[in-house]
Amino acid sequence: MSSKLLSLGRTVTFRLNLWYALIFILSASVLFLVFYVLLVVGLWRKDREVIESRLKEYAEIYQSGGFDALSRWVRSTHELQKAFFVQVVNRAGMQTLLIQPQDWGGFDSRILQLGERRLHEGWVRFPKDSEEEFMIGTITLPDNSILRVGRTTDNRKTLLLPFRTIAIAAMSLIALVGIFGGALFAYRAMRPVRQIVATARSIIDTGNLDARVPARRSDDELEELAQLFNRMLDKNQALIKGMRESLDNVAHDLRTPMARLRGIAEMALQGNADLATARDALVDCVEESDRVLTMLKTLMDVAEAEAGVMKLNRETVSISDLIKDVIELYEYVAEEKNIAVTSLPAENCQASVDASRMRQVFANLLDNALKYTPEGGRITVENRNDHSSILIQFRDTGIGIPAEEQGRIWERLFRGDKSRSQRGLGLGLSLVKAVVEAHGGRVEVKSEVGQGSEFTVYLPATVAQSSPNQLGFQSRGQGSPRSDLPFK
Ligand code: ADP
Repeated sequence: MSSKLLSLGRTVTFRLNLWYALIFILSASVLFLVFYVLLVVGLWRKDREVIESRLKEYAEIYQSGGFDALSRWVRSTHELQKAFFVQVVNRAGMQTLLIQPQDWGGFDSRILQLGERRLHEGWVRFPKDSEEEFMIGTITLPDNSILRVGRTTDNRKTLLLPFRTIAIAAMSLIALVGIFGGALFAYRAMRPVRQIVATARSIIDTGNLDARVPARRSDDELEELAQLFNRMLDKNQALIKGMRESLDNVAHDLRTPMARLRGIAEMALQGNADLATARDALVDCVEESDRVLTMLKTLMDVAEAEAGVMKLNRETVSISDLIKDVIELYEYVAEEKNIAVTSLPAENCQASVDASRMRQVFANLLDNALKYTPEGGRITVENRNDHSSILIQFRDTGIGIPAEEQGRIWERLFRGDKSRSQRGLGLGLSLVKAVVEAHGGRVEVKSEVGQGSEFTVYLPATVAQSSPNQLGFQSRGQGSPRSDLPFK
């Protein structure tokens, strides 16, 4: 029970509630206090005004007729003055009480003597009982005598006490409203956070990644947080799904070369294989191992580029020159297949790119075009400046890509149905996409089955130097451009 209370005390809801109630009660208290002070000051001023007018009146009578005239006046109007205390102290300090209200029986005027100096001018108040007090005003007359006029004030009884009682009752009510209102307010305000916690807990407990925070009809920051949380879950789910699929595919694709590797080694071990046969087997083993290594390296490159951590060693290069290099590299393959490769280079087509990576991109696209174009076909490679971007196009007259496959060709390890007869791992285009996007560009495909395909790479004409995907690059596997390619 106590640990439950302790953990409740630590919750944001409880703290919000506490703050809300405290601020509510404190503001109400300050308000009551201000009213109370204003009331006290107002009443005190009113009492002073009454006494002051008497002091003035008596001082004028004293001035015109002296002590006797004042004494006569006070006594003759006794009925009117009976609520007042009137005292004159002459220069010698002798006190003469002209009149004293009946209820001032307990008042000892000697008390005024003690502070005589202080009381030459000004105001004093003495408590009579818990509800009333004596209030005395003093002025010095022209002959240095002192005139004192006082009266009983019952403000406490008539106004201040009821005010205090009402204030305490109202404050109790306000405190209750503050606490319960605060609890309700905090509970409602924290609902989205509770839903986020519940969703996260359900994912952790059950491992089911489908759980999402229910949408609310509101556009406040907490709703934004819930939506962002849901989007993050969507992305994580897609990422995990992609990783699982990739892992499955990699496992599946590794099995074939590994089985072949084992088969070759087993064959070589069987019987009495001579040295030459054993050597051939070892050469085959090295080739198979290279295939596996290339595949793993390409997979890692794609993952690095997609994660935005691929380091790009940027330099301003001529895109036309890069294309020329790649075409030269594939001259022999093109000749063998009797495919005409035409280049339409643009002058002054420069971009800030990682030359080695970009060569790899172009090589992959040209390699695919040659692979999927039957003998006697045509390939055109064109590049040009197009407004704010540089555009590089690879057009072929090959087998084309079915519409339903066009969205998937960028996925890791995806291979088209009709491409199975060709060498390849299904990693070329995913690497192309990842590298181009790491440069801040994009790549598109248009294709028609039986007619051919057109791959277009768009690169920004001037590429920002420091966006997350475009960090300085330490090029790996720099050998010949062809050796950068995934195994085809
Ligand atoms: P791979 O060529 O190793 O299969 P890629 O990632 O380079 O892997 O390409 C993925 C798929 O896209 C290929 O299997 C093929 O079906 C299709 N493809 C790519 N380029 C072309 C092209 N120029 N013509 C026809 N199909 C292509």
